[in-house]
Order: sequence, then structure tokens, then C-alpha cells
Amino acid sequence: MRFPLSMTAGLAGYIARNKISPRPEWQVTAEPAARTANPFHIIHTRTGTATPAKPHPMIRKRFPLVLMLEPLHACNLTCTGCGRIREYETTITKRLSVEQCLRAVDECGAPVVSICGGEPMIYPEIGRLTSEIVNRGRHIYLCTNGMFMVKKLKEFQPNDTFFFNVHLDGMEKNHDIAVEREGVFREAIDGIRAAKAAGFKVCTNTTVYRETDMAEIEELFGYLEQFGVDGHMIAPAYGYSAVNDREIFMTRDDIIAKFQDIDRLGRRFRINNSPVYLDFLRGERELPCTAWGNPTYNVKGWKGPCYLITDAHYETFEQLMTQTPWEHYGHGNDPRCDHCMVHCGYEPSAALGINSKLSDTIKLLSWALR
Ligand code: SF4
Repeated sequence: MRFPLSMTAGLAGYIARNKISPRPEWQVTAEPAARTANPFHIIHTRTGTATPAKPHPMIRKRFPLVLMLEPLHACNLTCTGCGRIREYETTITKRLSVEQCLRAVDECGAPVVSICGGEPMIYPEIGRLTSEIVNRGRHIYLCTNGMFMVKKLKEFQPNDTFFFNVHLDGMEKNHDIAVEREGVFREAIDGIRAAKAAGFKVCTNTTVYRETDMAEIEELFGYLEQFGVDGHMIAPAYGYSAVNDREIFMTRDDIIAKFQDIDRLGRRFRINNSPVYLDFLRGERELPCTAWGNPTYNVKGWKGPCYLITDAHYETFEQLMTQTPWEHYGHGNDPRCDHCMVHCGYEPSAALGINSKLSDTIKLLSWALR
């Protein structure tokens, strides 16, 4: 089975409950005068009359699925594609307290918490933070470059709801180029090996850049089989405001071409992205952006609208949900979203069954049970 049964069943129940009775306080829409957050909003007009874009199918059923929790932005590396160390340069020395992190976890109630950053393994109380979140019945993906896993492993307890998610963008040579330091791949592999030997669940997380050769990603997943890795997340690199000037990011057409063969990879390896999202990456279906499904919380507050674009930081989760002009984002609504196919915006749409086909239920079930 791809995920622990408790996780699959818990998530299915959570989604069903929220779809049937969405929390009314999160569905409120701010007054037009207050909806100034997006200066790039495309105003749809027809013969001089303002006409609204097609309404989002879930706009009145908003709820979070995965909280992106960034306790700090400091990192021991300066990876080429990282927007965080650039966007949050002025607050790079700041960090959230464990209590602030837990308040965010409680406030939004998302069943999955992805702890990212920065490098969360250098957060001084990372062990206590993860155990408090596990004790709240949440599932954790601890995203790490893997360099401190061997040293800090004793701060964690193996648990079916806790996954290390190790960043690997290629085999040794190309991964070390992407993270701009030699030896990182080797240390990450040592970390994976140690964590698996100690009984932890370990996934990997790979970003595919314009220059990435998909044959190398296949080689990487094949190489990782010997360590008993529990699954792989994969996502295209898409340029956004903090890193847009670089040439390593892909357009929508580049992404579709790059991921044409992803199904074959998915049959050979345990890829944790849903098959519906993979269809989207292959250009076989359209999905609307559901950025509220993946809210981000960090030292500046609740980041809106999404993990990638920052038009505002809100003090409370409810403000993020109700004051973000959600319909101003996504393809056709904001030029910054035109090429976006990243999983923080679209994986929730796949999980929620938006634009679903009849065959999706069988496809999703066989994927989850495999
Ligand atoms: S389309 Fe992408 S960049 Fe735009 S709001 Fe959604 S996730 Fe963010």
C-alpha cells in the first residue's frame, strides 16, 4: 500500500466531510474595497462590460489539505532554484517558536503538515515540533536536504505518520551542481540509509528543471530502490516572482513535453503524486488552481495566495481564506500563473476530484492500494 491505511482513510474522511459541509467562516469573501492584494489581476472585459471569469468549482468549498509550515528560512545551502533564501533575505535569521508553529497547525487543521523552510533540520527544536504534531494526529512530511539526518536522527521517533522527505534533483554530479555544493548527494544518501535502518519512513522529493534529463530521474529512482525508499514526489520547476529571472524554469509547454513519459515511470516506481495530477502534467486534462488547499505559514504570517507568489501575509488563517481574492489567480486570471503546474496549486484539485472523469475513482483506488 502506497500510504499507511490510517492516512488514506483519514484523508478520504476529511475531504468528504469538508466537501459536504464546508466551514462557513472560511467561505466568506471580502468586500471589493478590501480585495487589493493582487496588483497583477487580469480584468476580463467583453465589449466594454466587465465579465467575471468562469467561477472556480470549489470557490465556496475552501479548506486546507496540506499545511506548508516554514519554521525558519535559514539554510546551510544556497540551491540554484530556491526562492526562499532570496525572498526572505531580510528575515533569514528569524524563526517561529514551537508554540507559534503549533498554533498554525491547530488554526488551519490540515491533516497533513509539510515542514519545510529553509532547512528544518537546523531548527533547534525540530524533534519536539514533530512529536507535538504527530501527537495531534497529523501526518508529517519533513522536507530536508538530508545533510543533518545522521546527526539528528536520535531526536525523532519512527511513526507511520511521519516521513522524512529528502530533496534529490538527480544523481550525484547533477544534484551537487543544483545545490551548489559537492558532497551533498553522498550525505543525503547516508541520511536515507541511516533513517531506513532505524525504521523511519523516507520519501524523496525531486524538482525537474528545464535541463533535467528524465532518464537520469529514472536512474535515480532505480538507484534508491536498494535503500527501500517509501516513495517519490516529483514536480516541475516553474519560474515565479522570487526566481523568475533564471533560465532553468519551464513554460507550460516545456513541462508537458518533459512529463510525457511519466506514466511509465509511475508504473515502475512508487510515485506519490496522484495519477490525476500526472495526467495534468502530461497535458491530458485541465485542473483549476486550488492554492488554498496548500496554505503556507512562516515568520511573516500566512502567505497569500500560495507557496510561490506573495501578494500579502495575513495574521490569521481565516484572513488568508477570506481576504485573498482567489478568483484573481490561476491560468488566465494572473499572468504570473500562466505557466504554473506545480503541485502546491494543482495536486489539491486532483485530490478533490475537480474535473474528474468516470475512470478516476478506479485509477485513484488502484494507485493508493499499490
Ligand atoms: S496558479 Fe500557481 S502561482 Fe498561481 S496562485 Fe495557483 S499555485 Fe500560485
